[in-house]
Amino acid sequence: MKREFAVIGLGRFGGSICRELSMEDMHVLAIDIDEEKVNEFKNVATYAVIADATDESALKELGIKNIDHVIVAIGDNIQASILTTVILTDLGIEKITVKAQNDYHEKILKKIGANQVVHPERDMGKRIAHNIISSNILDYLELSDEHSIVEVKAGKKMSGKTIVDLDIRANYGCNIVAIKNEDNINVSPSAEELLKEDDILIVIGADNDISRFEKHLVVDDD
Ligand code: ATP
Repeated sequence: MKREFAVIGLGRFGGSICRELSMEDMHVLAIDIDEEKVNEFKNVATYAVIADATDESALKELGIKNIDHVIVAIGDNIQASILTTVILTDLGIEKITVKAQNDYHEKILKKIGANQVVHPERDMGKRIAHNIISSNILDYLELSDEHSIVEVKAGKKMSGKTIVDLDIRANYGCNIVAIKNEDNINVSPSAEELLKEDDILIVIGADNDISRFEKHLVVDDD
C-alpha cells in the first residue's frame, strides 16, 4: 500500500517537498491557509485544500489521522508551526517532520514531539561553507555535532594505491563507504580496491579524522 503524506505550508520548501513526493507517485495531501498557494498545487498533489492547520477540527475533518507522515513547512509564523505540531502529536500522527526557523524553534519542536526537525537554510549554508573552505570537499552532510559524511576527490597521493595500502581506517580513523567515478558507484568497496585520481570518495567519520585524512591524502602539495 502506498504511504500517505501531508504537507502543511506550500512555500518554496513545502512546495518543493510536495512536488517531489508527487513526482514519486506518492499520495500527498497539500494544505495551506492561502487560496492562491492551494490553487498552484491543485494539479500537483493528490488533494490540495485550504485550511488553517492551527485549527484542530479542520485537520480532523481532513482525515489527518490517517496520514502516515506529515511535513510541517509553515514559514515565519513560528507560533502556528508549534501549535500545528502540538495538534499533530496529540492526534497520534506517527511521523512528523517540521521545518525550524532557528535553534530555539528547533528545541521546542523536539520537546513537543516532532520526530524530525529540519533546518534547510542552515544545513545548506554549512554545506556550501565547507565547499568554499576546501575545494576538495564536494559535498558535506552533518551526522551529529562531531561526525559527518563528505564527498572528496581522490588526490594524486592516492592514485594507484589500494585502501589497505593507505590503511585509511587505522591511520585516519575514517572509512571510505563508497567510490564513485564517471558511470559507476561502488558501495562498501573492498580493502583491495585500487583508487584512481579523480575518483570521488564518500567518507564517513569524526570531523577531526576527516580533516586529517583530507590534509594528508586529498590535498595535493604542488
Ligand atoms: P520558503 O518559501 O523558503 O519555504 P518559508 O519557509 O518562510 O519560506 P513561506 O513562504 O512563509 O515559507 O511559506 C509558508 C507557507 O505556510 C505559506 O504558504 C503560508 O500561507 C502557509 N501557512 C502559514 N500559516 C499557516 C497555517 N496556520 N495553516 C496552513 N498554512 C499556513
